[in-house]
Amino acid sequence: MGIRIEKLWPHADWKVIWNNLAETPTSEADISVWYKGINDIIPTNVRLHRIKMASTDTCKKCGEVDTLLHRLTECGEGKTIWDWTQKFIARMLRTSPSNIPRDWLLRPEFCLWPPQSQRAVMCVLSRHVVQIKSTPKFVIPGLFGLPEKVMMENESTVRQA
Ligand SMILES: [Zn+2]
Repeated sequence: MGIRIEKLWPHADWKVIWNNLAETPTSEADISVWYKGINDIIPTNVRLHRIKMASTDTCKKCGEVDTLLHRLTECGEGKTIWDWTQKFIARMLRTSPSNIPRDWLLRPEFCLWPPQSQRAVMCVLSRHVVQIKSTPKFVIPGLFGLPEKVMMENESTVRQA
């Protein structure tokens, strides 16, 4: 499992990524959605076009190349919700939104201290992926359904980004 994506990104720390994913405090269904996202097996037009199941690799909504990252952070509600997610995580970690890379959505190989912060950030990222993947309409961030504990700010430092 995960072999193809590991070859595509040989420099990513896959052991950390799979471990982080496994420890994310969310439902198995959500983990499974994120797992598919990380493995890049969600049927975007880029993927469908490659196997000739879509006439174009571009996004029907905006004409940009329809990758998963495009859906998650650039297009329509994806951009709006990503801006919110990025700011929310930055506030949790007491840092600037520019320190929260969108690559964390596809390769969450960061290690935060304490472990509660790690799990909280993973939880927020997983909600982001699940929201965009399953809900085309804008969802009010407050209704993300995060556990109360996650909503509280944590004293944390980025050990390794
Ligand atoms: Zn688009």
